[in-house]
Amino acid sequence: MRALETVLTEKGLIDPAAIDAIVETYETKVGPRNGARVVARAWSDPTFADWLRRDATAAIASLGYTGRQGEHMRAVFNTEDTHNLVVCTLCSCYPWSVLGLPPVWYKAPAYRSRAVIDPRGVLAEFGVTLPDGKKIRVWDSTAELRYLVIPERPEGTDGWSEDQLADLVSRDAMIGTGVATVPGDAS
Ligand code: FE
Repeated sequence: MRALETVLTEKGLIDPAAIDAIVETYETKVGPRNGARVVARAWSDPTFADWLRRDATAAIASLGYTGRQGEHMRAVFNTEDTHNLVVCTLCSCYPWSVLGLPPVWYKAPAYRSRAVIDPRGVLAEFGVTLPDGKKIRVWDSTAELRYLVIPERPEGTDGWSEDQLADLVSRDAMIGTGVATVPGDAS
């Protein structure tokens, strides 16, 4: 892909900046928007949350998010006691149907090994500090089963619409390298 990109760029056929912008959009906006809607629905509708817990594949498909690399899904819910973190130690399995393309760091050997050995250290590098007593559960994705982290719903969001709630849910929060926060809320 890179070699092809180089050839096309040398011939003046494509603009690498434009390509980067497109990839960036799919990594951070279009794809993760689907997952954010799943999370927002789970926060808003206990029946849906329960379904998601029991059969994430079907619950997610009911919102129209299906397709390759998302055939078998499991949703893992963050709680007061437990934070969930997703990795693929073998390669880069990732739930495309809800998160789009994986970020570069997700595929990097450093993340794949250290997420297992030192999850707390990895989270710190992402700017996430968890309370001391909180456990971290690491989930190793495979081609057969991929994970979506359901972050904890931020305080002070009672009565918010699903659209408003979805805006709080970043890609990283659904991988577990982030948490959902209300912008401007330092706590
Ligand atoms: Fe993999």
